[in-house]
Amino acid sequence: MNTPSSVASRRARQKIYRENNREKIRVQQAGYRLANREKRLAQASDYYHKNRETVLSHLRTLREEAKRKLGGKCRNCGCDDLRVLEFNHANGDGAKERKAGMVETRFLRQIISEDRSDIDLKCRLCNALDYLERKYGKLPFSVSWNR
Ligand SMILES: [Zn+2]
Repeated sequence: MNTPSSVASRRARQKIYRENNREKIRVQQAGYRLANREKRLAQASDYYHKNRETVLSHLRTLREEAKRKLGGKCRNCGCDDLRVLEFNHANGDGAKERKAGMVETRFLRQIISEDRSDIDLKCRLCNALDYLERKYGKLPFSVSWNR
């Protein structure tokens, strides 16, 4: 019988089970994801194509929230136009992280929940200059935000 109190106590038991079996559940879920990789990729692709506008709008909202969380302006020149601000890996590990399978939504959620201290904001120009100076050493350029 599904009385409200039996549902509540079942949920409480399930919560206790999950807390006591975290590792077992983690391993089971990882196994499921691995065994059903193709199916899950197809479902995700199907969902994306059917809900493209919703997915992209959600991503825009997450990006803005993450940018605000990081102070909403370029660390170098102070530019505060969210459209031109980019996430900058302080130690230049962005490509390595993407190759290791980091997806943008997880990355943004980590920033929003303050789990990332290695990320800061730079405008596109300062980020480009940063990249070039890592590659060639100090260059005779500077970026200024005239506002
Ligand atoms: Zn800048």
